[in-house]
Amino acid sequence: MSQPQEKYRVTIAYGDGIGPEIMRATLAVLEAAGAPLEYDVIEIGEKVYRQGITSGIPDEAWEVLRRNRVFLKAPITTPQGGGYKSLNVTIRKALGLFANIRPTKSLHPYVETPYPDIDLVIVRENEEDLYAAIEHRQTTEVVQALKLVTRPGSEGIIRYAFEYARAYGRRKVTCMSKDNILKLTDGLFHKIFDEIAAEYPDIESEHRIIDIGAALVAARPETLDVIVTLNLYGDILSDIAAQVAGSVGLGGSANVGTHAAMFEAIHGSAPDIAGKDIANPSGLLNAAVMMLVHLGLADIAARIENAWLRTIEDGIHTADIYRPGKSKKKVGTQAFAEAVIARLGQEPQHLKPVHFRKPGVSVEIRPTPRQPKQLVGVDVFIDWDEAERDPNVLGRKLEALAGEAFRLRVITNRGVKVYPGGLPETFCTDHWRCRFVAAEEGGTVTPAQILDLLRRIHEAGLEFIKTEHLYTFDGQRGFSLAQAE
Ligand code: NAD
Repeated sequence: MSQPQEKYRVTIAYGDGIGPEIMRATLAVLEAAGAPLEYDVIEIGEKVYRQGITSGIPDEAWEVLRRNRVFLKAPITTPQGGGYKSLNVTIRKALGLFANIRPTKSLHPYVETPYPDIDLVIVRENEEDLYAAIEHRQTTEVVQALKLVTRPGSEGIIRYAFEYARAYGRRKVTCMSKDNILKLTDGLFHKIFDEIAAEYPDIESEHRIIDIGAALVAARPETLDVIVTLNLYGDILSDIAAQVAGSVGLGGSANVGTHAAMFEAIHGSAPDIAGKDIANPSGLLNAAVMMLVHLGLADIAARIENAWLRTIEDGIHTADIYRPGKSKKKVGTQAFAEAVIARLGQEPQHLKPVHFRKPGVSVEIRPTPRQPKQLVGVDVFIDWDEAERDPNVLGRKLEALAGEAFRLRVITNRGVKVYPGGLPETFCTDHWRCRFVAAEEGGTVTPAQILDLLRRIHEAGLEFIKTEHLYTFDGQRGFSLAQAE
């Protein structure tokens, strides 16, 4: 006697605009494919915003989302103006969904694209980098943003990329960063990539500097497979990739964390075609396929994806991809779903069939063991706009204030050394980074000595606006050198 199959409870939201019709079509395919799913429906989006809930999600929905941990979301309409917050950002941050996964595939010759062989996946870090959005204005002329890259965050996303590659039968993971310039932040990401890549000898790995990497996505996307990258680069790359594949309306995406995951179509709620039964349900269906693999239901996921590919190949197309002469039949949303259902069990004959491996992807993010660190100096940032901004004037003042514990090693302006021995051609703003290190070569300093230094600087009439401590970790320098230092 066969065992009753375990059922997975997932949260769904029908959303706005075309949301309800593409969700109905998607659920019909899931049911016909025998996906062992049960659903809890939550209300999000326009109706909720209109009740004055600026997050677009009512309190009671959080409990359901946290309990079920897996969320299939139809697109929602964000009302224009009036302090409404992005529901996606809210859900992503609240549930710790650290990975954003966006596959892009061309379906040539069935869907038009200048690049017939694209089949790539962008795995984007979702919580850190410049998107921490910690910004300050410090002087009349200068504002700054903090770029935060953490070891646990990087380990999580990079491990996720390799696990994803395994689960989805992919051959190569490409890391993209700008570590030739940002040696500590992007450098950490690249270093962790190399460490983790060594644990996956079955998967090829490579690193590309982000600028040439982005050029490759735009011009030779067929050479790329899985890309793992930091938040800002990933944001830009995802849109380049979707655009060059010409398949924005077909793609699904996932936001995945340790405790929960959210799956959705890339496109929005398309209010212009809502309620007409003409929307393409493929984006949400592809998101549902990603959800099945995430749940470890790889066989059912492949069954649906292959039936979907076969449907596209057979020329059964919704209006958005219908081309007279190339397509065979124009169908509506529900009829498209029925065509997919009719092909369950079939594979595409020209497009490549998919086979996912079990189980789905899951990674744990662990805190890093503490490392011994030593305080070896301090960067004091000063707002200074006197003496025609001559760095030698500021330098001489600060030399006199260094005291017994410190020596002034360098002053930089926008990262470039201007004292000692700067060039008169270098343009200087009102924002000076003044690096004090232990007076004794290789020595350490104390926080109390830094406070005394700051007091002397303040009492000399100079305005310090922030400090950054200089540490070594296990003897390794934990700060960048100034350009030309
Ligand atoms: P959109 O993606 O909804 O529509 C852009 C164009 O693509 C429209 O012409 C639309 O008809 C077409 N289109 C989109 N999906 C389609 C499909 N499945 N089948 C056929 N055609 C499709 O983008 P928009 O018009 O900029 O945004 C509409 C609303 O969606 C806005 O309120 C926006 O805030 C919201 N939005 C929501 C999400 C989300 O929930 N994740 C994402 C993007 C936009």
